[in-house]
Amino acid sequence: MLFAFRAILFFITICTSCAITARALDDFSALKNMSHELNQQPWQSYKKLQIQEKNLADMSAIYKLWWLLRKAQAENLLFLFDEFQQTVATAQNLINVKTPMQLVIQFKIYNGIIYQRQGKYKQAQDFLNTAKLTAEKNHFTHLMVQAKQELAYTRSLTEPYELSLTELQQAYVEAFALSDVYLLAKINEVYGAIYGYMGDYEKSIEYYQKALTSYQQLGYPSDVAEAINGLSATYRYWKKYDLAIDYYQRYQKAIEFSPTNIDGKFYAAYGIAMSQAEQGSCVKALVSIDKAIKLHGLIDYKAELYKRKAQCLITANHIDAAQKALDHAADIFAQMPELLGTRWQLEVVKIRAELAQANGNGSQAYQLLKSYNQSQVALLEKNSADRLLRVRGALEHERQNVEISLLQQRAKVQNLQFEQEKQKNVYQTYIIIFSLLLFISILIFVFFQRQHNKELLALSIRDSLSGLFNRRYVFNFLNKLVDTISGEKGQVSIIVIDIDDFKQVNDQHGHPFGDYVIGEIAKIGQETLRVEDIMGRVGGEEFLCVLPRIDVMQCMQIARRFVKNVNNYDFIIDSHATEQETMKISISVGVATTSAEVEDSAQLYLQADKALYQAKNKGKNCAVQYRAYMMHSSQHDYDMMQPFDEDH
Ligand code: GH3
Ligand code: MG
Ligand code: MG
Repeated sequence: MLFAFRAILFFITICTSCAITARALDDFSALKNMSHELNQQPWQSYKKLQIQEKNLADMSAIYKLWWLLRKAQAENLLFLFDEFQQTVATAQNLINVKTPMQLVIQFKIYNGIIYQRQGKYKQAQDFLNTAKLTAEKNHFTHLMVQAKQELAYTRSLTEPYELSLTELQQAYVEAFALSDVYLLAKINEVYGAIYGYMGDYEKSIEYYQKALTSYQQLGYPSDVAEAINGLSATYRYWKKYDLAIDYYQRYQKAIEFSPTNIDGKFYAAYGIAMSQAEQGSCVKALVSIDKAIKLHGLIDYKAELYKRKAQCLITANHIDAAQKALDHAADIFAQMPELLGTRWQLEVVKIRAELAQANGNGSQAYQLLKSYNQSQVALLEKNSADRLLRVRGALEHERQNVEISLLQQRAKVQNLQFEQEKQKNVYQTYIIIFSLLLFISILIFVFFQRQHNKELLALSIRDSLSGLFNRRYVFNFLNKLVDTISGEKGQVSIIVIDIDDFKQVNDQHGHPFGDYVIGEIAKIGQETLRVEDIMGRVGGEEFLCVLPRIDVMQCMQIARRFVKNVNNYDFIIDSHATEQETMKISISVGVATTSAEVEDSAQLYLQADKALYQAKNKGKNCAVQYRAYMMHSSQHDYDMMQPFDEDH
């Protein structure tokens, strides 16, 4: 009893642990494959991941890392940048030499993105570069392209456009070869950003729109929002402020899918404020700027807001307040050495000049403006517009070429596949034809085989001289019939025939004539009998006819007709003679029918034979019906029943 209880307990434990393992495996593959789902429904996926967190303690380090990766991905898409940073840091602590390369690279890219967001472009580039090289070395093409795209974007933020365009160019070609719509959209988005920074707004809008369309098709709300954000920024740089404000408002709606998007709200507010300020709507702008500055956002963006605020305040002649706002901006740039010498930082100098001018300090304004212009020239030289244009044009051209050649390659592959398909169809047709021919051959073979068998069967049951059934067949037939009959209707009659004085016929006219007579009598017999009756040659010049379902009277009628028909027949002695010589031949016939006394076919045959004996005794040329007295009237033996060679 106790043993059984333990066994059940053990069984339950095993089952439970199996179920847990199976579920864990299910979860694991679901976790690995949830990237698309995450992109489509970041918020719901994030909630799902949070529910899984309580099971995490029992899981392996790799499982935990995958879970952290998906969590980081969700947080990134939901603009939860602080949480994203935290998750990536937690994952970083779990990574060791045993961690799969794929995870290591993906987290390196995330680290790069974190530094990029913090404006730490140098560190960002280091991480992304390492990620790119590691992915390349380990043949993770997808991750490599992703790293390249992020790297290009990071570079564009610090203005080496040439380098970022080259980098992006490679990424584009590789993503195109991978046919990865999402990666291509991402790259198009970065193109949009870089062209925007470079002042080619038309191109920028074109690329952002391309990216937006792809994101909308994929149903990725976070990316849709980002593309709209890009479009609004480009319109702002393009000085199409109404369009810019319109797109910023669309962006505000687009980020509603993520209930926690604080940064997004800041970007929208920032964009609207900046557009208004740049449009010259300073009254509106000052309200919007203050609103935006209060929101949580990146400090270098806030520096921009302070610069605009300063300019608006200068226009409104609030010099002190303007000075304060500008100092805020300058303080921020001082914290970010990477931005030293960029156009954003240089603008502080320009506004200082404007402020000095407004203050009536002309010479200071001149000095500042001069310094600003010098730096501006240096910056322009660094990013020589002509050189950039050339590079850009060449790259654009090259990209088109690559696209064309890749499309050609694809067409070639498709042609090849088509050819293969065609070849396959031809083979299939051959196989079908061959099978059909084989089938027909088999049918023909079977048909002829059956014909042959029929012939063989006919040969084995026929007597060659008379064409009648042979002795074996006719006796077998009689045996079966007698064994199976029952009742009145089951009566069977037989007729036994012996040619009269046949020795004499042979002696007088020769053996061949005798054979002819046997054949003719066989024919007369078949014509005399009914269709269902059978006739066989059972001895030299003796015949047996079996007549099913017939009584003795009817059978006697047939027997007499047989005798008469033979009598009436003229047997031709010499067919070659001019005047045909014929002769008459007679037969004697014995008839017997099944009755209560008849036990088997041998007895029936004996009775008919007795009757035949009587017919011979009566002077031949007649038919006699068996009667009981005949049985003891003679010593005629049973030899007739013994099988003998029919050719005898
Ligand atoms: P009976 O009227 O009493 O019957 O006299 P019979 O001469 O016919 O006597 P029996 O029936 O005993 O004769 C058999 C003879 O038939 C013997 C043989 O010469 C002849 N015979 C047997 N088989 C063949 C055969 O295949 N061809 C020919 N031509 N003659 C045969
Ligand atoms: Mg005989
Ligand atoms: Mg005879």
